Amino acid sequence: MDLRDSPDEARFRGRLRSWLADNLPSEPEPATLSERWPYMLAFQRKMYRGGWIALSYPEEVGGQGLGLMEEAILGEELGRANAPTMIPLGHLGRPLLSHGTAEQRRRYLPPLLASEEIWCQGFSEPQAGSDLAALRTRAVLDGDEWVLSGQKVWTSYGAFADYCLLLARTDPKAVRHRGISAFVVPLRTAGITVRPIVLANGDEEFAEIHLDDVRIPAENLLGKPTDGWRIAMDVVSYERGAVDVGYLAKFDRYLTELAGLVRASGREPDRSTLQTLGEAAAGLEVLRMHCLRSLSERVEGGSPGAESSIDKLLMTRVEQTLMSAGLELLDDVTTPDRSEWFDRYLYGRAGSIYGGSAQIQRNILAQRVLALPRGPRA
Ligand SMILES: Cc1cc2nc3c(=O)[nH]c(=O)nc-3n(C[C@H](O)[C@H](O)[C@H](O)COP(=O)(O)OP(=O)(O)OC[C@H]3O[C@@H](n4cnc5c(N)ncnc54)[C@H](O)[C@@H]3O)c2cc1C
Repeated sequence: MDLRDSPDEARFRGRLRSWLADNLPSEPEPATLSERWPYMLAFQRKMYRGGWIALSYPEEVGGQGLGLMEEAILGEELGRANAPTMIPLGHLGRPLLSHGTAEQRRRYLPPLLASEEIWCQGFSEPQAGSDLAALRTRAVLDGDEWVLSGQKVWTSYGAFADYCLLLARTDPKAVRHRGISAFVVPLRTAGITVRPIVLANGDEEFAEIHLDDVRIPAENLLGKPTDGWRIAMDVVSYERGAVDVGYLAKFDRYLTELAGLVRASGREPDRSTLQTLGEAAAGLEVLRMHCLRSLSERVEGGSPGAESSIDKLLMTRVEQTLMSAGLELLDDVTTPDRSEWFDRYLYGRAGSIYGGSAQIQRNILAQRVLALPRGPRA
């Protein structure tokens, strides 16, 4: 593949760069989530109004009708410009696009893409994380309503969300993953309690969602009954792509920042410092090249699929290498930035858990990409 921008892509990049130069917030990103949330939301909405969000979604649902390459350029330029953190919403719109009815797409996608209505992902449960097919939240059809009961956990931004894309068991007799359906659940419905989970740093980024005989209209089912598993796999495959979640940009920014801090320390970097930075930079370049390769395959058609596990593993490796490098190097150059890097380091540990743990990604690659047998031969 040709790694250079086409003339159209170069024009797009140029327009985006000048928009960002004129529109980036002048204040720095606040440290606590309660202050960061309105800051992120304001910038994301401004970007949407400027025509820079939902680039690869069709125009009729509020997107820009462009391609995946433009999404990748957006990620790169946001990182380059040190733009605010984006709220991850795009991957939650994908199942509405692929499985939603015309009415569901019309009703839910435009406000989701505009960040006017915030969505969260209600998959994990206390006894169903890696083994998601073990989920026990139930949904029973009663006339023209579904009645939901159960509990979700680790729901990112659950306390800020208006809607939840929620998985529930609708057919207890079916083989585990076949009896699951996906629902659009308005979180301000009677019977729902959202309990924020406070992280060690004080942020309330996660929530538990308790559902106690919650009644939602029958038309809030997404896709057909029992499509839930396919929908879930579709969502997590988008969640696992560094380009889809804009993480290439974030890592670029961290690497540049780290190199700048080492330079600013005024000390001649020793061999080990250069090696640490070099490893982080090489890992990032491998991730970038891999992302471009898988993007060019996706441009030819199709969703990310099981191969997105490779993106997730590489992405996790880069994040954790970078953050460890940050701690190691800043210990040497002792600056006030160290506490920020310590937070990033701790957050980076979550990379090998969310969206399916690193072990689960390896299982997926072994079974679904390499077609290896599931266990030792008898
Ligand atoms: C930052 C973050 C954000 C998240 N956001 C959301 C969200 O918005 N919505 C949501 O639904 N969930 C969310 N989660 C939850 C996440 O999907 C689960 O934490 C993850 O799937 C792992 O499940 P678990 O925590 O139950 O761990 P477990 O499944 O109990 O796993 C524990 C350990 O056992 C290993 N293990 C388990 N089974 C196997 C196996 N078969 N082979 C090898 N090793 C195995 C795992 O790799 C892990 O190391 C989030 C998690 C994090 C950290």
